[in-house]
Amino acid sequence: MDRAHVDELTALEQMRLDDAAKGSSRCRACGCTENFACVGGCYWVEVDLCSGCAVA
Ligand SMILES: [Zn+2]
Ligand SMILES: [Zn+2]
Repeated sequence: MDRAHVDELTALEQMRLDDAAKGSSRCRACGCTENFACVGGCYWVEVDLCSGCAVA
């Protein structure tokens, strides 16, 4: 995996943490949020569980 891609993932995770700190919904399983959904998109099936994780 190239370094640029790793840096991008790190930045995305940081944004997710910032988003959670503001009080937005956050998936308890994968950590996705309203603004940073799973790849392909997801929606809330519970207050803190997204559709991407609910099917697993
Ligand atoms: Zn999830
Ligand atoms: Zn999700």
